Amino acid sequence: MPCPDFATWLAAQPRPAHPESAYHYAAEGFSQIAPLLRDYPGVIRVECFGESGQGQPLWAFHIHNPGLPSEGSMLVFASIHAMEWVPAEIAFAWIQAVVPLAPAIDLTVVPVLNPDGRQRVERDLLEGKNRYHRGNAARVDLNRDFSVFRDTDSIWPSLIPAYYRKTPGALSQPETQALDRLAQRPYDVALSLHSFGGFFYYPWTGRWQRAEDWQEFQRLGRVMQASMGAHAYRPRQLSRWAFFFRAQGSEIDHLYGKYGTIAFLVETTRSGIERLEDFRTYFRWYNPRDPARHIREGIRYLRAMSLELVAGRAKRLPPPLPPETSP
Ligand SMILES: [Zn+2]
Repeated sequence: MPCPDFATWLAAQPRPAHPESAYHYAAEGFSQIAPLLRDYPGVIRVECFGESGQGQPLWAFHIHNPGLPSEGSMLVFASIHAMEWVPAEIAFAWIQAVVPLAPAIDLTVVPVLNPDGRQRVERDLLEGKNRYHRGNAARVDLNRDFSVFRDTDSIWPSLIPAYYRKTPGALSQPETQALDRLAQRPYDVALSLHSFGGFFYYPWTGRWQRAEDWQEFQRLGRVMQASMGAHAYRPRQLSRWAFFFRAQGSEIDHLYGKYGTIAFLVETTRSGIERLEDFRTYFRWYNPRDPARHIREGIRYLRAMSLELVAGRAKRLPPPLPPETSP
């Protein structure tokens, strides 16, 4: 099926009244971008860069200033995991904040990388069903479907297999294939927005050992941290979150290992659990009742990273060869 025209697609999307009024259903979020496409045609354009497993278009918004030379490139993509909605809110808000400013960088924003999973969560909320969703339509965890460090160097998988679940193969899903095609540009910086945790995670995620550029990751992580104020997230190598933890085949190991892109996985918020009964509601685990503060913070660290690019302080690195041996 060829990609639809954005406006035609958008007009056909249902926009039901729903129980999470502080959040936008995906179609509502995309409809916020439509006026920008009309009012800033030289600054923002939309691209359908692939299709989901169920044939939904994958939308990317490309933003740049036609009057200024580009000082760098940044890819922001959100909501790879179905229940994590704060990231999409940040992505939609960031597009609206940045387009009128027309920064001197090439910026690509993908607000919803997993529209099928997202649609499932939207339907369940409408029907009052409390169900847990993470993957795409094939129930594959897209955040474990990439090509770098799919194998583990740890003895822990045999003891806690749930942490080391594998997908059918590298880039086995249409969503991850499409993201890889988009990432081949390649970008200087990429941020994959998740929830929750409160960290700016950097590679490696699939190995305990340090990435050769880990000090550069730390530095840029601290730049984003410093922009946030009171509730700042901290930069950390993801595999060092806990001694037993690895994420095999993650998007940031792929983007950094294959393309040298400075890739962060941002765990936005520190969960939405505010009351005891929230533990029973899967949606609440990831999504605070009021996402406003997290959206404002998101715009701050995205802006801070953009300024690093404009200043020439964030450049893509020579792609590191994945280490041959286990540490
Ligand atoms: Zn996630």
